[in-house]
Amino acid sequence: MSKTMLAAVLHGIKDLRVDERPVPELEPGQVLVRVRRGGICGSDVHYFQEGRFGSFAVTAPFVLGHEVTGEVWAVSDGVSQPAVGQRVVVNPARQCGHCDYCRSGRGNLCRNVRMLGSASTKPPTHGGFSEYLLVGAEQCFPLPPQIDDGLGAMLEPFAVALHALKRAGSVAGKQVLVTGGGPIGLLTAIAARACGATTVAVTDPEAERRRMAVQVGADSALDPTDASFKDQVTALTGDGFDLLFEASGAPPALKQAFEVVRRGGTLVQIGVFSAPEIALPVNQLLVRELQFVGSFRYGNVWEEAIRLVASGRVNLQPLISRVFPLRQAADALALACAKTGVVKVQLDLL
Ligand SMILES: [Zn+2]
Ligand SMILES: [Zn+2]
Repeated sequence: MSKTMLAAVLHGIKDLRVDERPVPELEPGQVLVRVRRGGICGSDVHYFQEGRFGSFAVTAPFVLGHEVTGEVWAVSDGVSQPAVGQRVVVNPARQCGHCDYCRSGRGNLCRNVRMLGSASTKPPTHGGFSEYLLVGAEQCFPLPPQIDDGLGAMLEPFAVALHALKRAGSVAGKQVLVTGGGPIGLLTAIAARACGATTVAVTDPEAERRRMAVQVGADSALDPTDASFKDQVTALTGDGFDLLFEASGAPPALKQAFEVVRRGGTLVQIGVFSAPEIALPVNQLLVRELQFVGSFRYGNVWEEAIRLVASGRVNLQPLISRVFPLRQAADALALACAKTGVVKVQLDLL
């Protein structure tokens, strides 16, 4: 086996190069994955376009990517699962397993977490857009044959959506609005439908994204800039939405969310804002007893996500817009930056 591999390395803003890097060496408890498919996430796009994602600024060149499937290539001594040859999806967040949050079942808040392809650490942690990837055995979830490499690489963003649903409490029978028709918004709408929401609506100013929302199963898609928007909400829900998932990270969307959620309703924040602070109608929280909760990455939802996709209860295939070979990673990132006409762009690393 070659000692070097190709990887998509971000050197600076809009400077993505396919570099030769050493294949990582096995360490105790770890497995070497031959990466097969990688999805480009909104965070990869932000790092590529702006050199930062929310409050995480890039401080050194690093390999992008965290939505990956692959085949287990080698395992260190003492690792019994997964086995060599097993196809897996990788949980890109490596939790320490022993801090107070890990021990209390909230590993997504782990004090020592390391996230693949993320500038949340300094220096940044290298990601999965590389031919080989070293991860903890516990980060690998076996893929059943019904889930191919492309669908498998959709499981990470789908896990984000499923975790957001858990943060909202029960979804069954509820009227749900998702603000923002990007990949996470669409996946949240799909997940809400699968979990029994009676009404699922999506808002987005872009007509193309609204069309996509309806195509993947939303009951309606509304233009939040339309003068009759609030009348449309009333016609659809009567008194407003029970649950609202803010998946755009756009300040006007969150402000509007407070106006269309019903009394006693819940707002879940999933979208990441570029601005560190924005103005909000906070007294609404009090007088209408709203709940405003954050949702960060994913808790223990991976196996459920795999079951939902494998069973056919949710179909994520329509969200995969284009697949590029690794060597064209820069073109793939450039296309992923487009706001319309494309949902999920993936890299084929085989
Ligand atoms: Zn992602
Ligand atoms: Zn921990």
